[in-house]
Amino acid sequence: MFDYTAPADLLKDRVILITGAGDGIGRACALSCAAHGATVVLVGRTPSKLEAVYDEIEAAGHPQPALCPLNLETALEKDYEDLADQLFDTFGKLDGLVHNAAELGPRTLMDTVRADAWLKVMQVNVNAPFLLTKTMMPLLRAAPDASVVLLSSSVGRKGRAYWGPYAVSKFAVEGLMQTLADEQDGTSEIRVNTLNPGATRTKMRSKAYPNEPAENNPEPSAIMPAFLYLLGPDSRDTNGQALDAQ
Ligand code: NDP
Repeated sequence: MFDYTAPADLLKDRVILITGAGDGIGRACALSCAAHGATVVLVGRTPSKLEAVYDEIEAAGHPQPALCPLNLETALEKDYEDLADQLFDTFGKLDGLVHNAAELGPRTLMDTVRADAWLKVMQVNVNAPFLLTKTMMPLLRAAPDASVVLLSSSVGRKGRAYWGPYAVSKFAVEGLMQTLADEQDGTSEIRVNTLNPGATRTKMRSKAYPNEPAENNPEPSAIMPAFLYLLGPDSRDTNGQALDAQ
């Protein structure tokens, strides 16, 4: 596991947006960031799941989160701009941006992947992080040291049979990270990195590996040290890296 112990107030006064914050790794990330003092912006497609995370954070007495339902499959550039305007009016800055939401898509031979399934995976996993990052840049620049974290995968670093558009989309995520990170290097205080969570006990994992006993893999909460490191000031000099949470 990634070796980092976060101080209790690591993310105090930081505003951190997490996509797919209603379930799985995104939910754990939202709870963990809030527990370390951050104001979290909960983005996701299922309002009831986001509300449950919101209530959990409020009940624990952590900073009041912001709740922003958004379907990344159908959102247009204007929707991202409206979100940026809303966050600018409320917070004036964004210290952390976690691109966590993703679509697994079909796990079949490439020549049997349907065109609509391919496009859906690319829309959620690649186009949405591009549009969201683009529109959040002014807010990220307004923060003293902002961190962009894109969730990757081992199949986004080395292709593997039957991982179809998902694998290709994660290669694109690595490319988006490298290009953005190089642009920010020496020109801003923004850092951009990818994080491969490794096998983690979530709905996506059981969908990808239906025959695997769920208890073989760690809970999302166990992989949070890497997220906290990347979102807090200790990673200020880490830019353009492809990291592993386990
Ligand atoms: P889950 O499927 O458990 O959770 C994904 C979250 O993303 C859900 O909250 C889901 O919303 C949300 N989401 C999906 N599509 C959209 C959309 N169109 N608009 C808005 N939100 C959406 O996945 P994990 O927690 O397992 O995965 C998190 C990240 O980690 C992903 O990027 C994944 O590729 C990566 N990863 C995970 C691994 C694992 O073993 N779990 C291994 C390697 C990488 P809803 O709740 O409404 O479904």
